[in-house]
Amino acid sequence: MSAARFAQFSRPPHVPGGKEVALGPFNVPVELISLTGFDCPRCRQTVRRAGQAMPGLVARMMIYACGCGPAVGVWEDECAPTAITWQATIAMALAAGVGLVIFHGGKETPPGFSGAN
Ligand SMILES: [Zn+2]
Repeated sequence: MSAARFAQFSRPPHVPGGKEVALGPFNVPVELISLTGFDCPRCRQTVRRAGQAMPGLVARMMIYACGCGPAVGVWEDECAPTAITWQATIAMALAAGVGLVIFHGGKETPPGFSGAN
């Protein structure tokens, strides 16, 4: 593939103040959103995801969300939500009344980590 042809498919850089869309409780630049390839059985919307780099951490936080409201966060190097686990995860988040569920794979949280804004 030529460089020009590749550039046609690569994502444009984020423009500050550019268009943002809702991903769970967050507003995310539209060019960071990608589709997972499975639908939420509850709201019938395609589950979307976006990656967010965290200062001081190697892996990105991947945020997954559908139209139900809550989002699911996992580290980039861990197991991602699937069509099989999605409904139970969203049901748990809705029952608990939280906006974001983070799965952390049993690893220690780095000292000084106090969440993400
Ligand atoms: Zn849903």
